[in-house]
Order: sequence, then C-alpha cells, then structure tokens
Amino acid sequence: MNEAQIKERVRAFLDAHDPGGDRAAFLRARFDAGLAWVWFPERLGGLGAARELQQVVEHELAGTPQINSGLQGIGLGMAAPTILAFGTQEQRRRFLRPLWTGEEIWCQLFSEPGAGSDLATLGTRAVRDGDEWVVDGQKVWTSGAHHSRWAILVTRTDPDVPKHRGMTYFICDMHAPGVEVRPLRQITGEAEFNEVFLTGVRLSDDLRLGEVGDGWRVAQTTLMNERVAIGGAPVRRGGGMVGAVLEAWHEHPELRTHELHQRLLSLWVEAEVTRLSGARLREQLAAGEPGPEGSGMKLSFARLNQALSGFDVEFRRDLGYDDWSFRRSEDVDFYGRGPGYRYLRAKGNSIEGGTSEILRNIISERVLGLPSEPRVDKDVPWKDLPR
Ligand SMILES: Cc1cc2nc3c(=O)[nH]c(=O)nc-3n(C[C@H](O)[C@H](O)[C@H](O)COP(=O)(O)OP(=O)(O)OC[C@H]3O[C@@H](n4cnc5c(N)ncnc54)[C@H](O)[C@@H]3O)c2cc1C
Repeated sequence: MNEAQIKERVRAFLDAHDPGGDRAAFLRARFDAGLAWVWFPERLGGLGAARELQQVVEHELAGTPQINSGLQGIGLGMAAPTILAFGTQEQRRRFLRPLWTGEEIWCQLFSEPGAGSDLATLGTRAVRDGDEWVVDGQKVWTSGAHHSRWAILVTRTDPDVPKHRGMTYFICDMHAPGVEVRPLRQITGEAEFNEVFLTGVRLSDDLRLGEVGDGWRVAQTTLMNERVAIGGAPVRRGGGMVGAVLEAWHEHPELRTHELHQRLLSLWVEAEVTRLSGARLREQLAAGEPGPEGSGMKLSFARLNQALSGFDVEFRRDLGYDDWSFRRSEDVDFYGRGPGYRYLRAKGNSIEGGTSEILRNIISERVLGLPSEPRVDKDVPWKDLPR
C-alpha cells in the first residue's frame, strides 16, 4: 500500500464517519478501518502497511478525535506489541481494539521491592488451580495502575529452576478481587505510580500470554518495546524537550550569552540525532527486528532530557515557585508545565524502563560484544537465591 492509497482510504473513511459525532464510536470505526496503527495486521486495527505511512494517516486525520498517547502509553507502546507477538487470535481480538481506543487503559506489573534491575529475581507467585491461576505478591512503581483496567504481569510459576526459566506472563484483571492499588508520591508532587498488592488474585488460564515457564522471553519483547516507547517516541523536529527550551530562548533574548548559545546548539544537534535514531528504531521494530540497540536510544533520551531541562533551569536563572509547578495530579507530562517540573521529572528518565547503568551493560555486552558481568546465580534454582 502506498501513500496515495492510504490517503484515499482516509478520505473514504471520513466520508462515512462524522468526526463531530460520538468520540468513542469514531475511534472504534477508525480501528476497524485499519487506520489505528497501519503497520498492524488487517482486522487488528492495521493494514499490514509500512510504519512510516502512519504519519500520512495522522496528518490526514488531524483535527479529528484523537487517542490519549500519554495515558495509553503502556498499552500502546508495550502491551500491544507483546499481545501481537505472543497472544492467541482470541486475545488479540479481545484486547487490541479497546486498548487502542483508550476504552481500556493498561499498566505494567513488573518491578517488585526486591526485583528492579534484576527483574528475573521477581517473586510474585502464580500457582495453578484447574483452569485458573492464583497470584500472590507485591509490585511497585506501577505507573497508571489507578487508571487501569488491565495489566501485563510477570510471575514466578516454578521456584525450583534457575530464575530466568520459571516465569510465566499473564494479562491481569485490575478489577479482580485481591488487587489493591496504593499511590506513591514522587519528587514532582504527583502520584503517577503506585504499589500494587496482589492477594489470592484468580486469573483464568486464557489470560496467560505465551507458554508456562516462558515468561522471560515474553517479557523481553515488552522491555525492548518499552525502551523504544520511552526513548524513541515520535517527536517533530525541534519538538519534545528541546522545543520547550527553544521557546524559553526565544522569549528571553535578554538572558542569552555566547556560551549558552554554543551549548544550546550542541544540544539541538544531539536532539536531532536522537530523534532520527528513534525513527530508525521504530522502523526496525515494525519490521520485526527488535534488538538491543533500543537501549542506546533510551540512554541518549534520558541523558539529553536531563541536560536540556538542566540547561533550561540554568538559563532562566531565577525561577519562582510557580515555575516549579508542583501539582498533586495523577498524570505525567514530560514536556508540559513549568521548567522546574520538567527538570525534576527528567530525573526519572534514567531509572524508568531500565536504569542508564543497566542499559550501558546491555550495550557493552550485546551491541559491542565486550565480556559479560560475572553471573554466579544463573544455574542456581530461584528458591535457593539469597533475597
Ligand atoms: C517514573 C518511573 C516509572 C516507573 N514505572 C514502572 C511501571 O509502570 N512498571 C514497572 O514494573 N516498573 C516501573 N518503574 C520501575 C523501574 O523499572 C525500576 O525502578 C528500574 O528498573 C530500577 O529498579 P530499582 O528501582 O529496583 O533499582 P535497583 O535495581 O535496586 O538499582 C539501584 C541502583 O543500582 C544500579 N545497579 C543495579 N544493578 C546494577 C548492575 N548490575 N550494574 C551497575 N549498576 C547496577 C542501578 O542502576 C541503580 O542506580 C518505574 C520507575 C520510574 C522512576
């Protein structure tokens, strides 16, 4: 399918559906017309087309009802590609449409108090009981759990084998009895993430994604997509964090110095290289070639966001209380609000989705082929690991 054909399809869609009518109905119809994510298969919201053609769709549908890419970020960036890769046809049909329209929000139940960087040590147990699984454990840092209908969940199903082997991946019903969500407040004042306690939560076996014991492989797909979703999200040239800084630069000519100008130019060049690398990675993913390079992308994104938001705070020199814009809101906003907010929120960029130290390890081992860190526990049954 080429650009002209896509445009024709969008026009036909707009002739048949009124963007001024019911928002949810319009988005559902857009999904059914294959104009949700054009690179997905037909009947699953896509047309099996090249991913870059999505931009054509977005351009043609500008001004019509849109999905909320912030609130839906985990669903769109992580749950959807994992369901597409490992889900049964029934799971894909059941979950992808309301995920895309935003009628069902998703969160990620991976990290635990004792398992973050070393996710494979996680201890949330899932025990089979007939056609169901009973889940007990605690997750933490769960972004958006308070909005969510569903979660992607990794559990321990076999404690007797080494840590990477005995895990199983599920879709968790966040409304099931035994799921308790408690907010955690962060440095910016908001409670974007939560602790989630799972006590005797019963999940039917048809909510399992992938084979029993194959959860690590399924989780790898999520994590590779996560790094691209956080670090490589599409931004326009001069947009994102560099856009916010450029705005301040234009608004305050009296604060400019030669030295700051030089620094801003180098940051702008870095932002552009990062943006283009993101576009390349998204293509790679769409072509079914996810790889460890996404770690480099996410690493640059975090470094750059911190450098740019730091530059912004330094440039403006005397920020007032309002510029820090602490709000007890439940939503995240990387680029909105005040410069102080952006500076504080960017601190989390080098932790969420894998810390920068861990990403450097991945790049050194899996991209550059350097010797790996000593791993003394890889053959030890999970139940014998010190925790
Ligand atoms: C804003 C935000 C949102 C998040 N949202 C979610 C979410 O929705 N769902 C979810 O499951 N998780 C989420 N997380 C959690 C995130 O994935 C973890 O915080 C992260 O993986 C690090 O784990 P940890 O906090 O347990 O730190 P630890 O793993 O305890 O690491 C502590 C420090 O040690 C360093 N370190 C650890 N191991 C090594 C090593 N081998 N070599 C070098 N240094 C090392 C780390 O880099 C870090 O500096 C979120 C985090 C943040 C900040």
